[in-house]
Amino acid sequence: MSVDIEAYEDVWVFVEQHDGVVAPVSWELLAKGRELADETGEDLVALVMGDGVSALAEAAVSRGADRALLADDPVFEPYRADPYGEQFRALVEERKPSIVLIGGSHTGRDFAGRVAVPAHAGLTADCTELDVDDEGLLLASRPTFGGDAMATIKCPAHRPQMATVRPGVFDAGDPTEPVTDPAAAVEEVDVVVAEEDTLSTVIERVVGDVVDITDADVVVAGGAGCEGNFAPIEELADALGGEVAATRAAVDEGWVEPARQVGQTGKTVRPQLYVAAGISGAVQHLEGMNDSDVVVAVNTDPNAPIFENADYGIVGDLHEVLPELTALVRAKQE
Ligand code: FAD
Repeated sequence: MSVDIEAYEDVWVFVEQHDGVVAPVSWELLAKGRELADETGEDLVALVMGDGVSALAEAAVSRGADRALLADDPVFEPYRADPYGEQFRALVEERKPSIVLIGGSHTGRDFAGRVAVPAHAGLTADCTELDVDDEGLLLASRPTFGGDAMATIKCPAHRPQMATVRPGVFDAGDPTEPVTDPAAAVEEVDVVVAEEDTLSTVIERVVGDVVDITDADVVVAGGAGCEGNFAPIEELADALGGEVAATRAAVDEGWVEPARQVGQTGKTVRPQLYVAAGISGAVQHLEGMNDSDVVVAVNTDPNAPIFENADYGIVGDLHEVLPELTALVRAKQE
């Protein structure tokens, strides 16, 4: 199938929301999308779907989008893959964006394929880096071969160029310059799906014990130095109101669930405080946490590389140091 590449322009970012709350990855992608659109000289367009969510479309404009497309209808609440996928697909077919960025969340992964397959688009999933080359082609990079290599994928022959992107890898930044009338840049589009044509019905929504360390302000991470005992990590995280995280070494040992792994093949976090205990500081781990505001490292080895990447370092046994830190935090809270 040959595609008229020239007919496609603009960078689109899908603004994912649930109950009116925007998924942080969407604002991260909007900030990154702004950079890409500035490089390609195109518009940055936010796509917002939901019921009664015009304020979110305006928020997207205030955060840097040149325009926002708003599909506002009860059929989009709560989220279901078929109406989202069908509406998105129809808009892509009609408006022809060159680049489409979607958060690599459960929602984004669920419906991105419904847009990409009928459009014969190139879709790179779970990206951790995005760029454009000299010709304005999207360079979508992601770990491959189980994390042993990075692959950069570009899509010269088909449009749009689509990517789902891992939450936490880009900085959402702050809203850019104040926009006096953001509503003026919001276009309400025709809704092409109807409830009676929708195949699925949501009977009940059950929120399970889903761990998301990417939004945490405080992360306390343990590594192989924990030697199977994560209690000091859990107790300090609890005292600080933070989340427990781990290196791949600790996850591979089965001490901590994979959803808590930080690093190249795990999650990317950027908390205000990252405590790294019993962690050597391998590059693959640093990749997932080196944008943290303040890093505190605890390690018995004064030459451990983690100290070069820490703001504060404590040379000592984590099984002694962490309980002392926890006691100090608790004492302050009394
Ligand atoms: P180690 O390197 O064994 O370090 C343990 C540290 O604990 C040492 O510095 C030691 O001095 C210290 N220590 C020991 N006892 C104590 C104590 N009682 N108190 C205080 N300190 C103590 N790793 C990740 O973390 N995330 C990833 O996403 C990831 N992806 C990878 C992808 C690829 C392709 C590859 C090849 C590797 C990847 N790794 C990843 C693995 C990474 O290279 C390291 O092997 C791993 O991060 C090491 O984990 P660690 O620091 O817990 O263990």
